[in-house]
Amino acid sequence: MEALAETKSDASLQTLPGDDIRQILWRFADRYELQMLVQASRNVARGPVARLVANGGRNSHEWTPEKAALLPHFDGSGITATFLDPEQGGFISGPKNLALALIAFELAWVDAGAATCSLAGNLGLAPIHERGTPEQRAKYIAAASPLKPGEHRKQIRAAFALTEPLPFVGVETSMLAGKVRVADWKDGGEPMLQVEKRGRFITNMGFANVVTAAVDSDDPKIKGSCMVILEEGDPGIFDRGTPTKKLVHQLSSTNDPVFNLKVPASRIVGGYTVKDGVIIPNFSHSEIIEAVFRRTRVTVGLMTSAKLLSAVEPVILYQRRRFRGGEGAPGTPRYELGIQQKEDALHRLVDIWATGEASASLGFAAARLFDELDPLEKQKDIVLSQKKLSGRAALKELARKQAAAMELVKIHSQPVGARDLKQEKDLEADPLVKFSILDSLANVLCPACKLWNTGHGANMMREAVSLMGGYGITEDCPGFLGQKWMDAQLEATYEGPEAVQRLQLSITMTNELFLAQFENWISEMRRIASDRPGTGACTLATAMQLWLWTLQHVQTATDADGAKLYHKTRQGVTFPLADALCWLLAARQFILDVVELETKGAENPALADGLAGTAAFYTDLCHVQTARAAGETGRICAEIVHGYNRHPAWDETSCHACFCADELETLEGLIPGIDGSARAYSDVFESAEKHPIKAGPCVRFAGLEDFVRLRAKLDGCLTGCRLAKDRAAEALTKVMTREALDYPV
Ligand SMILES: Cc1cc2nc3c(=O)[nH]c(=O)nc-3n(C[C@H](O)[C@H](O)[C@H](O)COP(=O)(O)OP(=O)(O)OC[C@H]3O[C@@H](n4cnc5c(N)ncnc54)[C@H](O)[C@@H]3O)c2cc1C
Repeated sequence: MEALAETKSDASLQTLPGDDIRQILWRFADRYELQMLVQASRNVARGPVARLVANGGRNSHEWTPEKAALLPHFDGSGITATFLDPEQGGFISGPKNLALALIAFELAWVDAGAATCSLAGNLGLAPIHERGTPEQRAKYIAAASPLKPGEHRKQIRAAFALTEPLPFVGVETSMLAGKVRVADWKDGGEPMLQVEKRGRFITNMGFANVVTAAVDSDDPKIKGSCMVILEEGDPGIFDRGTPTKKLVHQLSSTNDPVFNLKVPASRIVGGYTVKDGVIIPNFSHSEIIEAVFRRTRVTVGLMTSAKLLSAVEPVILYQRRRFRGGEGAPGTPRYELGIQQKEDALHRLVDIWATGEASASLGFAAARLFDELDPLEKQKDIVLSQKKLSGRAALKELARKQAAAMELVKIHSQPVGARDLKQEKDLEADPLVKFSILDSLANVLCPACKLWNTGHGANMMREAVSLMGGYGITEDCPGFLGQKWMDAQLEATYEGPEAVQRLQLSITMTNELFLAQFENWISEMRRIASDRPGTGACTLATAMQLWLWTLQHVQTATDADGAKLYHKTRQGVTFPLADALCWLLAARQFILDVVELETKGAENPALADGLAGTAAFYTDLCHVQTARAAGETGRICAEIVHGYNRHPAWDETSCHACFCADELETLEGLIPGIDGSARAYSDVFESAEKHPIKAGPCVRFAGLEDFVRLRAKLDGCLTGCRLAKDRAAEALTKVMTREALDYPV
């Protein structure tokens, strides 16, 4: 197995990956309109945005004319219109998740505040886009399109107002202080509403002229909560409030606004009905924000990926030039390689790069998934309404489809020859079955990429900063790495901090439809491993098995006091398992993308020259990443599986050995035959023999034998991962770079 991996890596990485490689990895090689959009966004990012940052544009909290001057660039380049359908002034028909994700990635490569400024406008419109009435969509979304030459109208710039001053809405989105009342309601006329809302940290508030605000009823004549569209110019108070004293994303505008406005009830997002004299909004505020965040969080996750990948080149340039002072002459290793002579500096950069790639793979996969899901979701709504199913009846129908979807996933797990092809075809033709399958994935991939890309990504940005030494924490740092490190923390926070994503995952990752697909993925990784062992796919498959075993174990297991382990109040169990899953998902998607690169890259003659070296390098990065993911998963699972049992009675002697005699026997029975781990365990056995301990019935591993076996196997699976890291590190010393970055510092 290893021999194959070694042979493949003979070719080496020649240049840093360019667009042709990225287009294959992220699957837009055949989408010319997206390639053009990437170019246009990049010109804005590396032109006006980079110049503004380099000129100190981030050094103020205010929404300055210089920052405002970015808006016309967003409009002129097509960034603003990407969110819109062609009939609304846009140029991409159909779903736009991947398109928006690519824009966010390009802008955040230079400055995520600029990316946020552009995306927050879409976020403000998203409640109307996802749940608005046709009239609301026609009025507000089309008006957000940039003005054409000679056109005279007010262009809508939107903001989204959910978060409120402490101690109201934050992570807990139901604690609404914002209120809506009936101001007056003439017989037969449209009710007028009084909307009071104070916002905290509302992006775009320095210039937005339309706000979608979440409010709760303060009137028996209105039922529940809703979102309301507020316009600058509505009668009452539209106070933008003071700018937030942010340490991050300073190219976006963030304020604490105050609204007290009188608006017609037709501003309720999604409309309303009237029953017995009570206004019943068609959608509660939580239904709307769920539909909105589900998509927008993916783009946020990709902002942090862009930062990590953008750090590679500046760090290499810095490292190579660092020792050119003094006596070193051109041609000497000291002069040419500088800090790259030091293994640790290279290994850390390999880790940063691998994390960036894996997180980008995960984020773009999630964006593509939503592109697939969007039309199916619309089809689902149509089918349900044709069958006149709503509320509980609709849920019942979807549950039925979930069972059919399970059937289809089971069929897909069988070899083609063993399948009932007719049943497979019928099930595949049912849009509700397909919807159920993709929906169960989207419910996991979205929070996973928001959580892992931003949370772990922020940690890795710190690593990138540290590789630049003191320069890393100055404003002059090439690539603006210090600012990007801080900015990453905001990406981990807004649109729901990590706790929110973990909470969501703790529910969605136990959906049996997701888990059935996850099981198929384990087999898929084993298959990939037999062709491409160098990717670490085998390690990943074992880590996935260990995670699944642990998740299933904790469903019924209790702690030493008999309390249930998998419970919503037990975040010590559910949250780390969610984290572990994210590591696995990111590594898996990275492997799949590299397989795609090898396969599709070979079909592109333009890539013939460097492809083998790039693919070999990427294969090593995958191995590095899977090893790390496996390590994290092993640690987390072991802590959970063993950590809630009480240690058997022990004294000083048994403490040294840490295993009772029966446990040793169990382990000895389990370990032999597992490559690479036998020696490590034999050390433990030896030390145990030197410290004879009480014999007694072994309880610690009872029922956990499979776990212990899998965990030992996982350690053995790490074979070769450090060799892969060494190869990737060496590639970093040889890869060609530009003389300077393509944006100012
Ligand atoms: C620059 C910036 C721009 C923003 N833009 C907008 C915007 O445009 N519109 C908008 O509506 N909001 C916006 N926000 C608000 C942002 O979404 C919130 O700050 C975020 O959702 C967290 O809310 P909070 O700050 O009140 O944190 P809290 O609710 O106070 O939570 C703090 C921490 O407590 C812990 N915690 C809380 N609840 C739980 C739980 N149930 N389980 C476990 N741990 C928990 C977590 O560690 C969490 O991070 C923005 C924020 C910033 C900083």
